[in-house]
Amino acid sequence: MHKLLKDQLKKSSIKKSDSCLKTKEFKKLITLIEETYEVNDALFFAETYQEKKNSSLLESIFNESIEGIIIQDTNNKVIRMNDAMQNIFNISKNNYLGKHLNFFSETLPAKVQKEINRALQTKGSWQGEVEVELNASQIIYVWLSFNTLRDRKNKIRNTIIRVNNMTKMYASKQKMKYIASYDKLTDIPNRALLFKHLKKSIASMQRTRSNGMLLFIDIDHFKEFNDNYGHPIGDKVLQFVAKRIQSISREEDIVGRLSGDEFLIIADNMNDQYGIYTMIHKILDCFKSPHQIGDYLLNISLSIGVALYPKDGDTPEILINAADQAMYSVKKSGRNNYAFYTQRMSDVANEYYSVHTALKDAINLQDFTLVYQPQFSVKNNSITGVEVLLRCTHASIKDVPIQRLINIAEETGIIHNISNIVLNMVCMQLYKWGMLGLTVPPIAINLSRKELHEKKLVYTIHNALTRYNLDPSHIELEITESAFLHENNDVQKNIQNLQKLGHTFSIDDYGTGFSSLSNIKTFSFDKLKIDKSFIDNLASEKEDQVIVSATITMAKKLGLQVIAEGVETIEQANLLKIFGCDVIQGYLYSRPLVPSAMEKLLLAQEV
Ligand code: C2E
Ligand code: CA
Ligand code: CA
Repeated sequence: MHKLLKDQLKKSSIKKSDSCLKTKEFKKLITLIEETYEVNDALFFAETYQEKKNSSLLESIFNESIEGIIIQDTNNKVIRMNDAMQNIFNISKNNYLGKHLNFFSETLPAKVQKEINRALQTKGSWQGEVEVELNASQIIYVWLSFNTLRDRKNKIRNTIIRVNNMTKMYASKQKMKYIASYDKLTDIPNRALLFKHLKKSIASMQRTRSNGMLLFIDIDHFKEFNDNYGHPIGDKVLQFVAKRIQSISREEDIVGRLSGDEFLIIADNMNDQYGIYTMIHKILDCFKSPHQIGDYLLNISLSIGVALYPKDGDTPEILINAADQAMYSVKKSGRNNYAFYTQRMSDVANEYYSVHTALKDAINLQDFTLVYQPQFSVKNNSITGVEVLLRCTHASIKDVPIQRLINIAEETGIIHNISNIVLNMVCMQLYKWGMLGLTVPPIAINLSRKELHEKKLVYTIHNALTRYNLDPSHIELEITESAFLHENNDVQKNIQNLQKLGHTFSIDDYGTGFSSLSNIKTFSFDKLKIDKSFIDNLASEKEDQVIVSATITMAKKLGLQVIAEGVETIEQANLLKIFGCDVIQGYLYSRPLVPSAMEKLLLAQEV
């Protein structure tokens, strides 16, 4: 029995046992009352409770929301507006309550208003991000949503407008966008943005069938600014260059920093040759005189590679690559200049790439062997030394001249791995010959320019010798003369320390570099090798005879032993003898030999 009925019965004079309660009709009536009561009770209580609860909840949500809320009636007149709405738009609700809301029609673009009206009619709702101009100096970004509530006849009963102020979020998003697209140091577009710009430029030039130009600019010897004056000055140089090239380029050009000391200029619509040359020369000219950077007056020069659209490529990657190759060719031919991209550059770059890949493979597979070329005393024909020369046995590059492989290895930085292989193979060979009881003259190893700068050079050589229990006097080091063009403290230290350990030094390819005997004197080298190019025409060219004979005389006065390399004829050998040359190396006496052949020769000499 329902609780309320029970309570009522308790209060009344009717007892539960009264017979009147036991009639059939009465019981039916009671059940009916009970059912009615239960349903109505529940509904009644629930409805009143929920309504009360909801209205106070809605009220507090409405008032305390950080979201601006406006409620309009069926006639589009404002019936409610919360505080947040007043704050976001800096308006007073008193000016709007009971009136038509003209605020959005005054501030939103007509196109957006049309879109909102259409959406409300068809879907009953609209939302989107809009820019609202509050006054001449203040724009805010809001997320706006409109929702309509309809009655049973589908007529709009209310419109609810909600507004989220996104201005702060928008600002930080913009800032993040800026950081992701601009270079922090120079404040110009970074690599990512440059690619985007270039893509856009290409698309637009494709449409308009116009021509464009891409300049790849690299600061010459930038590393030296960092090394000699410190990184803050290096940074200032980058900022200076960025500003300068920006000030020279046209307003519509895009100047950006690609990476490190590399900049790009994207110049659309360069339809005449004259414009192209003028712009490039303007850039080079303004770096002609020294510039004050911090406390220093610095000479800054640039190498510029030029690629043209559509001639040299029609994608950002191809164009940048072409301009890069052109820039690289400027670096190779002396810097501080510019060059246009050519197909030949591309061929060289492709060969460069495939050789580099094969060399790395060869290093992994140890696809190298050594040959030994003996050097003979002019006086008694005995072997006074041996030069070790590298050969690569890797199938795809075994026919590429070793000098080319060495150059690519130097430029790509893998020369150290190759030199280590050579050093260890020589030491192992010397150890084997030692075990056989052979007397082996000093073996000359060619040191590359790059290695001379290597801080670990002395340690690496010393380590290899110790492993095979060899004396440093067994290994002579050959340094090409041109290596001294970029000689510095590290080079000097390396040479001096290796000399202290007992290594002898010979200066290779003499005559091809600066030919300065004073340098040789400072370093107290032991031997001087006259370059093959002076020997080639020795028999026929008087001039070469004069040079070679004078060089031999001077070198000997400085206490150096003189070796002539690349001697192929008896005439050359006879002249060298007359001039007083000490040692001869060349095909006339012996080609470079495989280890077993060299071993035989050494054995023959023992007897
Ligand atoms: P290089 O140091 O001037 O070596 C002498 C080159 O002249 C060798 O060429 C040798 O085979 C060649 N040669 C010797 N006598 C004659 C001759 O009578 N006629 C002719 N036509 N050539 C002769 P190779 O072996 O091709 O080496 C070329 C260059 O590669 C070397 O010039 C050297 O600079 C470099 N190289 C070779 N092996 C190594 C190495 O292990 N390490 C480094 N860093 N460079 C190496
Ligand atoms: Ca050599
Ligand atoms: Ca040489």
